[in-house]
Amino acid sequence: MKVLLVFAHPEPRSLNGALRDIAVKELEALGHEVRVSDLYAMRWKPEVDRADFPALAPDARLKVAAASGEAFAAGALSEDVKAEQERLLWADVLILQFPLWWYSMPAILKGWVDRVYAYGFAYGVGELSDRHWGDRFGEGTLAGKRAMLIVTTGGWEEHYSTRGINGPIDDLLFPINHGILYYPGYDVLPPFVAYRVDRLDDAGFQSVAERLRERMRTLGSIPPIPYRRQNGGDYLIPSLQLRPESGDPAASGFALHRNDAAAPGRDAGSDTTANTSVCEFSRDR
Ligand code: FAD
Repeated sequence: MKVLLVFAHPEPRSLNGALRDIAVKELEALGHEVRVSDLYAMRWKPEVDRADFPALAPDARLKVAAASGEAFAAGALSEDVKAEQERLLWADVLILQFPLWWYSMPAILKGWVDRVYAYGFAYGVGELSDRHWGDRFGEGTLAGKRAMLIVTTGGWEEHYSTRGINGPIDDLLFPINHGILYYPGYDVLPPFVAYRVDRLDDAGFQSVAERLRERMRTLGSIPPIPYRRQNGGDYLIPSLQLRPESGDPAASGFALHRNDAAAPGRDAGSDTTANTSVCEFSRDR
């Protein structure tokens, strides 16, 4: 398989840097072809602004979605964005790797999504009518490909459990997994999460590393999270509400948008690795 790993950490000698190298080495040993977009090393420009649309008239008001769609259709997006889009089309699997910062991804990675996911490429794709609300959430440009997150956290696994103060990790990652990866069509694999990593000892590091190698070995076979397809019959169109008869009536929140009953055999929740350490986000024992 061809794998694109988009890496968002400012320090190559960080834990994330070490885990990236382990993932790449394992994938290459398995015969996969790997490319890495190291956003800090590339000095990736994270903000969307006029410079993204070189063909826009200097006196024209910037309307981002419209400018994005016109530039994409004309092949006139900036070269850095076009190069990342080509990498996405090249890859069978996309991995986004980052430390959890303020319950989300680092700004540089969000800026990669904002710019690379152009109108006509990642959104604004397909027929928009009362019968079909665009090719998205399971359909779209990147359909048929797989994607997953590699995330490290300071907080403990318990803090991200069902009753944990941070909220469940699968809820926190839902906007990324469902809103960013599933939206343009990816089959989204359970995230690899390493918790409580800030003072990881060597044994903890070896444990995380081995769990990560194992996840890389199952990249092509692990079942994706069973999100419901927008155009698969579960949703009313155009209100895009889940039909009353679809799913457990007692379910609520993000879990509504999974169809676990249709999933083959296994719980596709996050793959976790707990460690022993203390940090700003895990101080309260
Ligand atoms: P590093 O600091 O590089 O390493 C962590 C530890 O791993 C090191 O101390 C060392 O013990 C070990 N280690 C590193 N490299 C190796 C190696 N090669 N071999 C063996 N051991 C090694 N956490 C949350 O839970 N929720 C949040 O919302 C959150 N927000 C944050 C916001 C900011 C701005 C920051 C800076 C941190 C935040 N954190 C949060 C904590 C953050 O998620 C962790 O600090 C981060 O995941 C650690 O990853 P790292 O690669 O930076 O680790």
